[in-house]
Amino acid sequence: MQLVNITSTAKGVVHKYGGSSVGTPEKIKAVAARVAKVAKSGQRIVVVASAMGGMTDTLIALAKDMGEVLSPREMDVLLSTGEQQTVSLMAMALNALGVPAQSLTGWQCGIRTNGNHTRARITHIDTAALEDCFSRGVVPVVAGFQGIDGHGDITTLGRGGSDTTAVALAASLGFDCDIYTDVDGVYTADPRKTAGARKLSSVSYDDMIDMSQNGAKVLETRSVQIAKKYGVKLFVGRSLCENRAEGTYIVAEAAEMKKTARAFL
Ligand code: ASP
Ligand code: MG
Repeated sequence: MQLVNITSTAKGVVHKYGGSSVGTPEKIKAVAARVAKVAKSGQRIVVVASAMGGMTDTLIALAKDMGEVLSPREMDVLLSTGEQQTVSLMAMALNALGVPAQSLTGWQCGIRTNGNHTRARITHIDTAALEDCFSRGVVPVVAGFQGIDGHGDITTLGRGGSDTTAVALAASLGFDCDIYTDVDGVYTADPRKTAGARKLSSVSYDDMIDMSQNGAKVLETRSVQIAKKYGVKLFVGRSLCENRAEGTYIVAEAAEMKKTARAFL
């Protein structure tokens, strides 16, 4: 199976941009220009963004300044604001390029979770708001890392949780999922620490889950588990990379596509 030249049969694509990819106004505009190209080609696209690089840590430091006991509920209200900044800015940047776009927080996007504050799990996704955007020709720009629980409280999904948002949305919609980050793809070892580390053109879900559990930071473990369960075709590449041969696909040869899947618990 030639993984690098797979032609997709997916109905659309989720692009997830990590904190380093949206860390400055210039970077947000560069990402918007890239997303605009995809949107103008007629492909359905959902953008998921993380908070600007360092923002979540800054917010945690602010919270620690308030006293000893950190309320998990209040942490989630606070931490969810980081992603809210980037999605509104990204939607503005897209609109400025003539691409209709709209930001959506987790709850606006129908992402329901359990009530386990700061480490919540997605239980259900109602894709109505996304479908509504598509029907109006609007690009949805979704805040990663957050949802809403049964009490209407904001929850967050754990550090690195924007990957999970992106893959869960792709599974719900039957879309492919591209994760754009500050490395070229998945390496056999950390290239900054290990001489001779080799970039992989493809990795199986199981190997990627092992690598994530053993500390590879490139993808959050849970996102790969969801990708495996629902057969989401995952691609990891550097932020503005256009040449897919430069990145890494995470797939299973016998992946069973279950495009109507909605529950992730
Ligand atoms: N902003 C959150 C974090 O720093 C979530 C994410 O970036 O995926 O962990
Ligand atoms: Mg990450």
